[in-house]
Amino acid sequence: MKHFQTMTEAVRAASQLCSGWLVLENGEPVETDAALYLAGVTDRLDHEDDAAGETYYLASDEGAVGVTSRYEYLAQWILIPLPRPMAEIERDASAELERRRSEQSQGRTEPARFCPWCGFRQEPGAKFCPDCGRKI
Ligand SMILES: [Zn+2]
Repeated sequence: MKHFQTMTEAVRAASQLCSGWLVLENGEPVETDAALYLAGVTDRLDHEDDAAGETYYLASDEGAVGVTSRYEYLAQWILIPLPRPMAEIERDASAELERRRSEQSQGRTEPARFCPWCGFRQEPGAKFCPDCGRKI
């Protein structure tokens, strides 16, 4: 665990350890640029509040970013490392979205039906099984 005077320094150090974070407050995934912006805003607000310099930022060995003060024993975590690289998460999410869109556009909203005698897949509205010929 490393201590820093500003959140910006903590995020810079943590970005060497992981590829992105989840903002603990709202679960939003952020990359380094966004986290540095967030840190810059936080540091400006801190500077106004914290004239005595009691606040410290932390970077854990895994790349989590937290805050604590010299009077507190427990850190409050702000950013936690993503379980996988951001690009991989985005790729999976867009593939899943694409899959759902294509299912919807094919009108596959009803579950598939199968012949009770032979298990052959049935077309919607069919009266006889095209495989075994029995009535459905
Ligand atoms: Zn059949």
